[in-house]
Amino acid sequence: MENIVAIKSCDNYEQTNVDNAIAEGFKLLGGIGKFVKKGQTVALKVNLVHKATPEEATTTHPSVVLAVAKQIKSAGADCFIVDSAGGAYNANAMAPIYKASGMLELNEKYGIKINDNYNSYKAPVNGKVSKEIELLDALEKADVIFNLCKLKTHGFTGISNAVKNMYGAIPGLVKVEYHAKFPGLDTFNDNLYDIHNYYGKKLCLHISDAIIGMEGAGPTHGTPRKIGLVMMSSNPACLDVVGCRIMNVDPQTIPTIEEGIKYGYLTEDLKFETVGDDYNNFILKDYKNIKPNRYTPFASAVPKFMQKLVTSWMTQRPTIPCKKCKGCSKCFNHCPMKAIEMKTDKKGKKYASIDYNKCIRCYCCQELCPFGVVKIKTGWIYKLRHKKDNKKNK
Ligand code: SF4
Ligand code: SF4
Repeated sequence: MENIVAIKSCDNYEQTNVDNAIAEGFKLLGGIGKFVKKGQTVALKVNLVHKATPEEATTTHPSVVLAVAKQIKSAGADCFIVDSAGGAYNANAMAPIYKASGMLELNEKYGIKINDNYNSYKAPVNGKVSKEIELLDALEKADVIFNLCKLKTHGFTGISNAVKNMYGAIPGLVKVEYHAKFPGLDTFNDNLYDIHNYYGKKLCLHISDAIIGMEGAGPTHGTPRKIGLVMMSSNPACLDVVGCRIMNVDPQTIPTIEEGIKYGYLTEDLKFETVGDDYNNFILKDYKNIKPNRYTPFASAVPKFMQKLVTSWMTQRPTIPCKKCKGCSKCFNHCPMKAIEMKTDKKGKKYASIDYNKCIRCYCCQELCPFGVVKIKTGWIYKLRHKKDNKKNK
């Protein structure tokens, strides 16, 4: 693993521009032949978190996938598109997601294969927090994995880029179980690095689609924000550091970076080499970013009758305005802690309600709500505390 990030400007998703940027990126890193050999099969692990069109900037853009596939074909190798979205992991659940995201069109127009193996297996990761992790069989069967992530904000981890995208190696609803097993950011990120370490050299390249990223209520209901870059590296943590800087986030405040130092992906001073364009010219000072959720369950320090109120002051939490909720039950069905109850108001309208004593702030409900109804509310003590933390880190 080399600590080098290749950065190429790319103004828009016109195929020729993306093809050129990706081809240049490979050249800067030593050529496609460094990553793929003739006859191998590459899994393109894209970000298809939920059903969304490319214009929503939620998923990896198809023109980036196509540009990478062209490079792989030029090396005499083959590839296929794969991901497990937030819901069930089967052909019926994935079909509308492949269609909306433009992946189906890549298959129909250019013959790029789409994964149809929906099996999973218990991988012997022997990691820091997991001995075994259930992972996609399709990734195991590939010779090589390229991680094609999208640069976005994320309600739980602060940013979603190269490190976080490999959470999609866990099949559909099993992800919910791992959220429940690792409710804190530290163990959640340990589990992520256990996945990265398990794949090792096979997961040899991370490519971030930062042509148009997402700001605000990411990873699924934020706003598209033009950045104008593609970034490539064999080190996912270095790619996350550049992502943070572009989004004007202090990398030292992001858990994937903190854990990356512990796991030896990064040095304490976050130094690594960049080649190609200077990312400093792409830093967006007004990027609407999100702080990671450093929720610490809080109970005993204040009298019981005060706990609810003080907890709301001290934490970030998901909220569901009952008037806007459509009552579809998707959040209820996927909450790892069974913290959501479906209720009925006086007019007979169904709505979801959160029990904050059970909620672990994983934000799966925010990620999966098809109507963007779940919002993140930040308590005033939490805001103050993290303002101070950020100042200390500067
Ligand atoms: S209510 Fe939402 S944030 Fe809380 S545990 Fe359930 S899915 Fe996670
Ligand atoms: S997923 Fe969204 S719309 Fe559906 S019940 Fe939950 S909050 Fe309401």
